[in-house]
Amino acid sequence: MPDRMLQFTHVSQHQPEKRAAEARREDFDEIYRDFAVAEASAQSSRCSQCGVPFCSVHCPLNNNIPDWLKLTAEGRLDEAYEVSAATNNFPEICGRICPQDRLCEGNCVIEKGFESVTIGAVERFVTDYAFAQGWVKAVSPREELSQSVGIVGAGPGGLAAAEELRRRGYQVHVYDRHDRVGGLLIYGIPGFKLEKEIVLRRWKLLEEGGITFHLNTEVGRDVTFAELRARHDAVLVSTGVYQARDIGGPGSGLGGIVKALDFLIASNRKGLGDEVPDFESGVLNAAGKHVVVIGGGDTAMDCVRTSIRQGAASVTCLYRRDKANMPGSMREVKNAEEEGVKFMWLSAPEAFLGDEHVAGVRAVHMRLGLPDASGRQSVEVVQGSHFTVKADLVIKALGFDPEPLPALWAQDALDVTRAGTIKIDHRSFETSLPGVFAAGDIVRGASLVVWAVRDGRDAAAQIHAYLQPSARQGFLAAAA
Ligand code: FAD
Ligand code: SF4
Ligand code: SF4
Repeated sequence: MPDRMLQFTHVSQHQPEKRAAEARREDFDEIYRDFAVAEASAQSSRCSQCGVPFCSVHCPLNNNIPDWLKLTAEGRLDEAYEVSAATNNFPEICGRICPQDRLCEGNCVIEKGFESVTIGAVERFVTDYAFAQGWVKAVSPREELSQSVGIVGAGPGGLAAAEELRRRGYQVHVYDRHDRVGGLLIYGIPGFKLEKEIVLRRWKLLEEGGITFHLNTEVGRDVTFAELRARHDAVLVSTGVYQARDIGGPGSGLGGIVKALDFLIASNRKGLGDEVPDFESGVLNAAGKHVVVIGGGDTAMDCVRTSIRQGAASVTCLYRRDKANMPGSMREVKNAEEEGVKFMWLSAPEAFLGDEHVAGVRAVHMRLGLPDASGRQSVEVVQGSHFTVKADLVIKALGFDPEPLPALWAQDALDVTRAGTIKIDHRSFETSLPGVFAAGDIVRGASLVVWAVRDGRDAAAQIHAYLQPSARQGFLAAAA
């Protein structure tokens, strides 16, 4: 066991072993193997214990990374778990799916010259190990409070808030239109990034902690928002963003052109053992097909890699900017390339070809132009550069906008931005409706799991301050 830190000069970086691409193509299992205790310890010992840890500064949860790395290096894994869990409700999930190259690891000071500490892999290891040892327990409030909080949305934002509020003793009720807990963790993100068992064991633990879930309950359909406000002392809206951006043009109404989330939900449900008629019939199944995915974000990457695993004849990704300007994580692009996905950068669809069912995509090459008002390079068509890609399944992965909640919930007084996200006071997390708070993607727009967790935790603290005047006074005094 290493007896000191700063080992980065002679212990080189090792991420957990990645399964061979050929094997990965055959199943939906996670692609990285687990660290063994000795590996996690050795990798943690590379940390130089920075006085100003930029890794923590760039982690949305400001995790105490050097502390749990040191404890892991010393083999004090129970303490490492406690420190890690103190700032993150789902460390094993963030350790798996955060884009670490853009967050903690990308800002690790030893990155330049020695490659970063494998922060995400250690974070995942510590909590997986804690689960295996039985150290991860359901929350157990010191006292029961009579006040109740209703949370709309069982994604990571809603779940983090639920756990934090329950810890403080509130009666917590989470409403979700789906039949399972997890939001995009269960039905969006595929098993090869996050195995479903990891999400299901958290659901079980939250229930054991006394959180009540009302599943198959769509607010605005099965229960009105007004009823929910009357039922609870405070309400948190964490509904995420689900209105898929569409694509027009000739042929865009042909059969075989599907939305990314419909495709991913069908695949995830199938993996969970559900009957999925649209999967069985082939409508939402890539087996044997030439698949074209349009888009360059995380959703597009999940669609191309799911198609490969379903046995597609070919998988092509069309993205209108270049590789360097892709919003998706570079690590995921690399994984997709290894698994056999063909990327066509600087390419945009113009028309979908076919009679009733799509048979091909006519696309055109693009070039990058001058930066626009947002600083991002604009794109322009290269005239006369048309080409056709064979396709019998086209998956649209162009991003998501919020659903029009004020109209859907008959809440004209709920203020939203021009983009449709809910407006909040960024200190109190309160919306324009008294006692109604909001967090996660529905406030930020499509973002990351780790940000939803952060927002859920912060919103829970603010709801507590709102419900407990004494807590509020303490909070205001601390802020003064
Ligand atoms: P969500 O996870 O969207 O949960 C919202 C919940 O609200 C859902 O369960 C929904 O059913 C429910 N709901 C909505 N409306 C209602 C209603 N009216 N009544 C009842 N329930 C309702 N982030 C990462 O960090 N890493 C990744 O690798 C990654 N990959 C992604 C892959 C895909 C395909 C997608 C789509 C997103 C990905 N993201 C990733 C983004 C991440 O999943 C989201 O930022 C995060 O889940 C947002 O959390 P949330 O709690 O705000 O919302
Ligand atoms: Fe890094 Fe995400 Fe973990 Fe923060 S939560 S330390 S960003 S992997
Ligand atoms: Fe350790 Fe890197 Fe964080 Fe510094 S920036 S404390 S070396 S993990």
